[in-house]
Amino acid sequence: MKARSLLLAAGFAALSVAGASAQVVGVSWSNFQEERWKTDEAAIKAALEAAGATYISADAQSSSAKQLSDIESLIAQGAEALIILAQDAQAIGPAVEAAADEGIPVVGYDRLIEDARAFYLTFDNMEVGRMQARAVFAAAPKGNYVMIKGSPTDPNADFLRAGQQEIIDAAVKAGDITIVGEAYTDGWLPANAQRNMEQILTANDNKVDAVVASNDGTAGGVVAALQAQGMAGIPVSGQDGDHAALNRVALGTQTVSVWKDARELGKAAAEIAVAMAKGAAMADVPGAGAWTSPAGTELTAIFLAPNPITRDNLSVVVDAGWITKDALCQGVTNGPAPCN
Ligand code: BGC
Repeated sequence: MKARSLLLAAGFAALSVAGASAQVVGVSWSNFQEERWKTDEAAIKAALEAAGATYISADAQSSSAKQLSDIESLIAQGAEALIILAQDAQAIGPAVEAAADEGIPVVGYDRLIEDARAFYLTFDNMEVGRMQARAVFAAAPKGNYVMIKGSPTDPNADFLRAGQQEIIDAAVKAGDITIVGEAYTDGWLPANAQRNMEQILTANDNKVDAVVASNDGTAGGVVAALQAQGMAGIPVSGQDGDHAALNRVALGTQTVSVWKDARELGKAAAEIAVAMAKGAAMADVPGAGAWTSPAGTELTAIFLAPNPITRDNLSVVVDAGWITKDALCQGVTNGPAPCN
């Protein structure tokens, strides 16, 4: 990760000869209510400021229609590059078209935008899914599994699910694991995940041994449903390093939160957006490579590496300045390090 950042920095220094005037970068968020996006935003803002560029933004509040008008408005406000966290991979098409018509470069942020004109910057989402399932599988190699997936309009939901399956597939085929419930979570909303989990528990007379939940928000909904049945403590996964989730890992009610350092992703997006606004080609972005989507679209992409956080390595997130020890260890007595 360090090496990549240095590479990016060196590359961008070389690219920044053109364009004396400040660049305006528009960021279109899909669901700003999710904790992690505030961290992404802070990193984007800081990197834009460092580059002398201006940040403008809008939040679609989980509405794909609002996101289209948001992007129109960002373009009208003079955005010279767009960073888009797409609410709906299908519905976002016309916005990319509109940007392309105006010669405005687009960074598809975190979620796939199936259009070769959009630079794809994300974490390795299949690997996130593998890491989630790996930690749950280590804790529960046999039993009844529930798969709580992400939003059906977010391609990450299926990338995660595919990675999860790779890990448990052999055990499912051997009959050691039975998937007794599986549900998408509309809008990734914790309340929807909780409702789905409640229904799955009821349908199975609470005979559930482990839950592969696709992010920390949905894990929160799952743990609430488990708590109501006195079942908190069975293996549950998540991702994002949300503070409440890391605290659950310390408390023992969540097994893993796959931590994706959103500060790195935000910084890279800002730097790429500024470079492209100044005329850099996607292929010239340092560290970029060709990647073919499952649907066959050839994109230019960068994938950052995720990092699973379990009770065995909780200090990593404190040492990285991601969370304070106090927040991590709140309510924990005699927990895993550093909460002991
Ligand atoms: C992101 C996750 C996030 C989820 C809900 C996904 O596309 O990769 O980090 O938790 O969206 O916002």
